[in-house]
Amino acid sequence: MTQAIRIHANGGPDVMLWEDVPTPEPGPGEALVRHEAVGLNYIDVYFRTGLYKAPLPSTPGMEAAGVVVAVGAGVTEVKPGDRVAYAGGPIGAYATERAIAADRLVVLPDGIDAKTGAAMMLQGMTAQYLLRRTYAVKSGETIVVHAAAGGVGLILCQWAKHLGATVIGVVSTPAKAELALAHGAAHAIVGHADLPAQVKRITGGAMVPVVYDSVGRDTFMTSLDCLAPLGLMVSYGNASGPVATFDLGVLAAKGSLYVTRPTLATYTSKRSDLVATANELFGVVKSGAVKIRVNQTFPLSQAAAAHTALEARQTTGSTVLIP
Ligand code: NDP
Repeated sequence: MTQAIRIHANGGPDVMLWEDVPTPEPGPGEALVRHEAVGLNYIDVYFRTGLYKAPLPSTPGMEAAGVVVAVGAGVTEVKPGDRVAYAGGPIGAYATERAIAADRLVVLPDGIDAKTGAAMMLQGMTAQYLLRRTYAVKSGETIVVHAAAGGVGLILCQWAKHLGATVIGVVSTPAKAELALAHGAAHAIVGHADLPAQVKRITGGAMVPVVYDSVGRDTFMTSLDCLAPLGLMVSYGNASGPVATFDLGVLAAKGSLYVTRPTLATYTSKRSDLVATANELFGVVKSGAVKIRVNQTFPLSQAAAAHTALEARQTTGSTVLIP
């Protein structure tokens, strides 16, 4: 038997139940992975509440690390005994074991343990594509990063500094500001009410070429006001709720701006992109340029408590669930 969190109806954290389910057999092209650590991500909240849809009953979770127990026919990417990690759909990671397409797995390098692997894959690969592909951040540029003390946020701050950028981090408390500053942010702004004015002051009026906004509804328009002409708004999350429909003319009025709504799924849909993204992440972690901060750990059976903390903005850095 496998133990898993199961959701029979969308709702608050309490809808997540710890249940026995039959251990899956790996089908053709699949590997059965015994999880040693499962990553907590904000997208798990969207699937639980129903903002993102999945057929019920469902098991949430997009990310884990562990050991390959068995493989199905035709699998070439991994073999039993390999230490592996994955991030991205389909959901189902909140379980002691799961069968998953083997071409979604990457082998964890020596020196990166399962807990770190589970903490970093989704948030770290997101930071990679945002900073290196959605907009290629260059040395000398100043950028804005929302939720700078969060899971993706702490990695973005460190990696952007490593690329030579000046990071203006946005957070909600002075303690989170300290954390962002200790992880690569050059400036930390508490609250976003006067963010454009602060960005104007810091950049001497130039404003920034890119804003990374994972907060969504509450900050979208404010973020547009931080951009230089022809700047890029990267709206990659909805922690405060989805962005409302808006008039495209706003982009013209604010300086011929660009907007993108990217997802990790698109950027890693090809196996070659997945492996390249993961390898670049492993490189910055192994060099020490990016440190993965696992600031909270919960038993997987108590995923509800982890969700409650995440939604209440009580977590910083990454959170791992232990089966
Ligand atoms: P975080 O650790 O960043 O947690 C979310 C943070 O958002 C909070 O700590 C809080 O920071 C901030 N926040 C602002 N407003 C709210 C609100 N109303 N309710 C709750 N939190 C709020 O989570 P993750 O690192 O897992 O994810 C960060 C974001 O990135 C999420 O929106 C997620 O969906 C998105 N994401 C998108 C991906 C993509 O490919 N598009 C991939 C991975 C993540 P503070 O208190 O400082 O404001």
